[in-house]
Amino acid sequence: ASFNDMGINNSLLRGIYEYGFEKPSAIQQRAVMPILKGRDVIAQAQSGTGKTSMIALTVCQVVDINSKEVQALVLSPTRELASQTEKVILAIGGYLNIQAHACIGGKSVGEDIRKLEHGVHVVSGTPGRVCDMIKRRTLRTRAIKLLVLDESDEMLSRGFKDQIYDVYRYLPPELQVCLISATLPNEILEMTGKFMTDPVKILV
Ligand code: AMP
Repeated sequence: ASFNDMGINNSLLRGIYEYGFEKPSAIQQRAVMPILKGRDVIAQAQSGTGKTSMIALTVCQVVDINSKEVQALVLSPTRELASQTEKVILAIGGYLNIQAHACIGGKSVGEDIRKLEHGVHVVSGTPGRVCDMIKRRTLRTRAIKLLVLDESDEMLSRGFKDQIYDVYRYLPPELQVCLISATLPNEILEMTGKFMTDPVKILV
């Protein structure tokens, strides 16, 4: 299968090819279509498999560019990963004019407030800062339709469990969830049981 067969819109396809990708990696082959069809997905995958680009291209495809509300939220364990995901979204989504913002600890709260008030389609952040922005009502959650939990096992081992559950409580009930994790310990399975409905499971 190629990116052309995935129902991806033309501006986004152009962004993907110009970014240098020719064909989808294994995780992209298997996870993109189910996510675009609206399924919840658990992907057991390590970094280096193309998971960041998989996340970027699915969030770019699901957001409605004409709405200025946050529609996709990506949570990552580290500032670096959250920023990297934001960068890839902005790069491949350039022709869509997608607006993304990294909500990460250690950066100015004022900048977060300014960006979020101006309107962004996607937030990529670390659980602590995202939770904080939601509680301040700076990050509005009512239009969020896709939650991506990247490196979920790593988020749990960094002690973010309570913040992830907190964030989840603020999200709309009709939420699609995509969880990526290198390992699937009990705490992760517990989370998938709470957050997800009939998930597609992918092992790469
Ligand atoms: P990731 O696992 O998302 O961090 O990706 C690992 C590396 O593979 C990054 O340098 C990506 O730019 C690259 N990559 C991801 N998807 C593709 C693809 N479909 N074709 C070629 N390179 C890719």
